[in-house]
Amino acid sequence: MAFEGLSNRLQETIKKITGKGKVSEQDVKTMAREVRLALLEADVNFKVVRSFINDIKERAIGQEVMESLTPGQQVIKIVQEELTNLMGGEQSKIAVSDRPPTVIMMSGLQGAGKTTTTGKLANLLRKQYNKSPLLVACDIYRPAAIKQLQTLGKQLDMPVFEMGTDVSPVEISKKAIEYAKQEHHDYVLIDTAGRLHVDDTLMQELEDVKAEVKPDEIFLVVDAMTGQDAVNVAESFNEHLDITGVVLTKLDGDTRGGAALSIKAVTDTPIKFIGMGEKLDELEEFHPERMASRILGMGDVLTLIEKAQANIDEKQAKELEEKMRTMSFTFDDFLEQMSQVKQMGPLEDLLAMIPGANKMKGMKNVQFDEKQLISVEAIIQSMTKAERQDPSLMNASRKKRIAKGSGTNVSQVNRLLKQFNEMKKMMKQMTNMQKGKKGKGFQL
Ligand code: GDP
Repeated sequence: MAFEGLSNRLQETIKKITGKGKVSEQDVKTMAREVRLALLEADVNFKVVRSFINDIKERAIGQEVMESLTPGQQVIKIVQEELTNLMGGEQSKIAVSDRPPTVIMMSGLQGAGKTTTTGKLANLLRKQYNKSPLLVACDIYRPAAIKQLQTLGKQLDMPVFEMGTDVSPVEISKKAIEYAKQEHHDYVLIDTAGRLHVDDTLMQELEDVKAEVKPDEIFLVVDAMTGQDAVNVAESFNEHLDITGVVLTKLDGDTRGGAALSIKAVTDTPIKFIGMGEKLDELEEFHPERMASRILGMGDVLTLIEKAQANIDEKQAKELEEKMRTMSFTFDDFLEQMSQVKQMGPLEDLLAMIPGANKMKGMKNVQFDEKQLISVEAIIQSMTKAERQDPSLMNASRKKRIAKGSGTNVSQVNRLLKQFNEMKKMMKQMTNMQKGKKGKGFQL
């Protein structure tokens, strides 16, 4: 997971100070030194680290803490607030033009994830904001890039505007906007050409497109895994183009996080979105405060709730509650539940969003074996409809058949049956508890 090293070190450091009834100047200095090292190790720009540490020291040694009844917690609050400020403070929202279409120009080096992000952004705009985006292919140097955007368009069932490789990007963008107006698209996402390095020809081309279409947003897509390089790239693009936002991709990898923590401070451009995987729904709006909480192990309940809301169908949830109450929960329901949870992303990432989960006994080193989930799915899928509805039908020969069909073995099938029965028992207990409360609804 991204930020793992930084997150562990910062949590170790602040743990030492949390419970203190009194925080001395020396305590703050020791903490500041450790935080400084943790940030440098996470590849945060050294100038950014210096000013960050000074801010923390100034506030933590000041009256805010010394006069507080819970000085330790006060210090952590300061670290959390300063981390939030470092990453931009408030969430920076995507522009909406009052004269649609809103035009967004996507820029970035080759391989940063620009084309994928263009598709993901279109998907997010439709799903979250009910918009109808038009994708525009302007990378005339790589026919493969046009093809890639078309493939994404097909997957999303969204139109892609292209004019091949013989027309200039300026002309293509101009025509694309005319087309978008005609067809009532409210967003135009222009996928421009990338290069391996920043070069003058590329910048000139982007500047020309900018001058022609006057975009409402110019996003720079950078790869978080490249650390300080991402920050340098952002600086040069910003000098030429005055970018309005950064999209940081590949934050699902084990990046140390330096880019996320330095970009806003170095370029004064907010991070607007983060890429959390290769799939088209793995783009998130960036919330500095939530990210700071995640880094400090305080969890990110808001993002978790949003993910649940986006992926779990309320009607189905109600039906499920009913089934739990009437004890008619079957393997089919179990399968449905699993697929909904899976849509929310890797379990490890979900766990990181629960406050204190990493401090729970035995949870710190839990590694979720996603393969095991796949076996569970295969086992259920190998059951007949009747078996799924009524597991008590299961006898030795049925179990053997299921194990064979799912590529597992009988003991795995037995284990799942046992777990399922235990789960049903637990549901029964929960519903009994609810009855005991006399009308007070069961709350998680
Ligand atoms: P472009 O050259 O900048 O247009 O880059 P592409 O969109 O072709 O992406 C390059 C590679 O990065 C592809 O394999 C993408 O699937 C991958 N990629 C893009 N965004 C993410 C992300 O957020 N996480 C991960 N893990 N991979 C990503």
